[in-house]
Amino acid sequence: MRIMQCWDDGDVDDIRLVEILRKHGARATFNINPGGFKSTRRAAHKFKGEYQVYRLTLDEMPQVYAGFCIGGHTMTHPLLDQIDPDWAFTELVECKRYIEKHFGQTTCGMAYPCGAYSDAVKELVSKAGYLYSRTTKNSALELNVDDPMALHSNCHFLAPDFWAKFDAVKAMNGDFYFWGHTFELMGDDARWQSLDAMIGRLSDDPATEWIDVRDLFAR
Ligand SMILES: [Zn+2]
Repeated sequence: MRIMQCWDDGDVDDIRLVEILRKHGARATFNINPGGFKSTRRAAHKFKGEYQVYRLTLDEMPQVYAGFCIGGHTMTHPLLDQIDPDWAFTELVECKRYIEKHFGQTTCGMAYPCGAYSDAVKELVSKAGYLYSRTTKNSALELNVDDPMALHSNCHFLAPDFWAKFDAVKAMNGDFYFWGHTFELMGDDARWQSLDAMIGRLSDDPATEWIDVRDLFAR
């Protein structure tokens, strides 16, 4: 079975995640918002009203994400179905251009900020040249690859039924795909340890093979 993961927003805690991923030989896609990055680490929201979330700087991203796949998440994280279509298209095109220029990755997918999309937005994403765009919805066991501009994952990484879903997909030798944000682990070392164990278990399973999400749509 093929397995995939992706992580959104370019948080500073991704540094800790990539160490875990490298240790276990896992692949991943990081969906970034280049317009939201600065030359110093930028304070974003507070997780649980308590833990200050910081974004990586533009300069440190290429090194942090070396060897991993980069996906778009728009330039500034707007709700794409709520803004003027011309602005939405600019957000999409500029982000893709940034990824090509700074990461040398000419084919990529993306994830919708806050999962917000519409049929009109899907068309803009396709026109901007992305291979796929991930929603925040859960697919049935089989991924809906026939609708790449609204690709659902199997589940969030903290889903209580994560392993039940994994086992069900494994039983049909399917493709398993999960996502998350590293800020969701802030202030919780036990959760970091379970993530480490989870990535290890996925990597060590003889039935699995890590791929990048864009490999589903390789041209
Ligand atoms: Zn996001």
